[in-house]
Amino acid sequence: MLPLVALVGRPNVGKSTLFNALTRTRDALVHDEPGVTRDRHYGICRLGPRPFALVDTGGIAGENVHLEASGLAGPTAKQSRAAASEADLVLFVVDGREGASALDDEILRWLRKIDKPTYLVINKTDGLDARGAIAEFSRYGFADALAVSSAHRHGIDELVDEVLEKLPETGQTEQLDSDPERVRVTFVGRPNVGKSTLVNRILGEERMIASEVAGTTRDSIEVDLERDGRKYRLVDTAGIRRKSKVDEAVETFSIIKTLQAIEHSQVSVVMIDASEGVTDQDASVLGAVLDSGRALVVAVNKWDGLTDYQREQTEALLSRKLAFVPWAEAVRISAKHGSGLRELFRAIHQAHASANYKFNTADVTRALEIAYETNPPPVVRGHAPKLRFAHPGGENPPTIVVHGNRLRTLPESYKRYLENFFRKRFKLVGTPVRFVFKEGE
Ligand code: GDP
Ligand code: GDP
Repeated sequence: MLPLVALVGRPNVGKSTLFNALTRTRDALVHDEPGVTRDRHYGICRLGPRPFALVDTGGIAGENVHLEASGLAGPTAKQSRAAASEADLVLFVVDGREGASALDDEILRWLRKIDKPTYLVINKTDGLDARGAIAEFSRYGFADALAVSSAHRHGIDELVDEVLEKLPETGQTEQLDSDPERVRVTFVGRPNVGKSTLVNRILGEERMIASEVAGTTRDSIEVDLERDGRKYRLVDTAGIRRKSKVDEAVETFSIIKTLQAIEHSQVSVVMIDASEGVTDQDASVLGAVLDSGRALVVAVNKWDGLTDYQREQTEALLSRKLAFVPWAEAVRISAKHGSGLRELFRAIHQAHASANYKFNTADVTRALEIAYETNPPPVVRGHAPKLRFAHPGGENPPTIVVHGNRLRTLPESYKRYLENFFRKRFKLVGTPVRFVFKEGE
């Protein structure tokens, strides 16, 4: 499983700024589109060679602190404490400008009590002497500490290095490699969209108890399956969020577990309840898959319950709400009646095959030439970016490395054009196509 790192500190020290600096992805722009609100408290940091999950605890206080005075509602503080207790590593964030405060002292006392590996991060040190800032906190007794500026992204790479060094090595790629023939498919989505009903239906037996009772808890379940001569491992994450309405602390971990499940799968099937449309929570799950770079299939479930008129309405809504993942197939299914499953597996297979597509250098260079000639990039301040040549950069997702000049001035819209051009030309469906731009030869 992905290791978990918790950001802990009093309000206003810059935790969410640091969180954003650590979890920023190349797709950040895409998510800024209206209707795609992201949950900003849980994310994955991919800046280093190994990813880790990150939780911004929002604010935390020791037991003796008056919660109202520090601007913390009860459940938030409780959730923060729970997140810190579950983490593999705590980043204790303090404000280098203001120096140590009574609230910092109190949080430190609490951190000592829970006895977690803790690393001191002194933020807002832009324009400050880093050594002085570190000295200010020396009485906290940390063996080492790092001065950063989250707002200016100073020290962020060093911080990632430190974190990775301190985290336990986990077999991140273990499952992916254990049986290369077996495709790991994870079913994710809000509670009650029909994940367990679907997995039960696929297995054709009551292996999982599809329960109508809200609040039932189960962990995620894995089952192996052979279908049409292909081998799958199905992961049902249904249990992950069940208790969430009851306990906010559980909510935190359920989201992290969902992120972890996506990270470990080859194809994510995001399930949506057709009768409810695409909710913010659905969009947030889709965004998590998008961030992960994994293959994606959208399963629009409970299609059976809709009238013709509702189906029409839903079709229109889907094409609008899923516009930020235009490459993903949306398959209409009924888990209850078992309809659409053949189509679903065809889409899963195609997404997996596309995600593992191996480009060759001659083909991608030729494709780049045609894309360039058909539609050259716009001139910026008298100069046009030059795309010189391309070569394959790996699979899962399929990646293309483009060499050229003034690539920094390539607009996002042009990058999207390239991505769509390549996807069409190589008939890739259900996977993002990643571009890496390299300046010069
Ligand atoms: P949180 O309450 O701990 O999540 O803090 P925020 O991330 O919301 O930041 C609180 C304030 O500090 C905001 O006004 C940020 O712009 C500012 N801030 C955050 N990081 C830095 C930094 O590295 N340098 C400076 N100068 N200001 C920062
Ligand atoms: P999960 O929380 O995502 O695993 O959802 P469940 O599989 O437990 O299903 C939640 C509820 O939706 C149950 O009452 C199911 O009977 C119902 N349900 C699941 N799939 C369908 C479907 O295709 N059509 C209809 N009408 N109801 C469904």
